[in-house]
Amino acid sequence: MRPGGPLAHLRHRRSAYEQGHIGFARGKDHALRPSGIVDGSERRLTLCGLLARAVPREFSGWLEESCKTCDRVSEVRPPGRQVRLSADLAALRSLLDGAAVEFSRREHSPHPQRGAGEILADLLLAV
Ligand SMILES: [Zn+2]
Repeated sequence: MRPGGPLAHLRHRRSAYEQGHIGFARGKDHALRPSGIVDGSERRLTLCGLLARAVPREFSGWLEESCKTCDRVSEVRPPGRQVRLSADLAALRSLLDGAAVEFSRREHSPHPQRGAGEILADLLLAV
């Protein structure tokens, strides 16, 4: 939630990394990188460089089953965002849809249009 963003009205939560889990053996919990594309098994890169499936909760590095490398990395580079996946995704989709409509109409509109930089800034400030 950034000031002026579409989710700025929501109650503030502390910033955290999303938790990921690797299920073989006893499994370990890792911190997922905040952006990235999932692979064919719906796994995404962790802070320690492995691939893990997302678990819908915050990573807690102090637990025994937590990856200590991810915990250390998260101490050095604290998370900059809150874990609020559904709301973030819906807001981003809404902004992307709005940007697509805005771009498609700009050639035919007699009214002044926002520049690409302004539209991109809105997307970056969304979450
Ligand atoms: Zn890890």
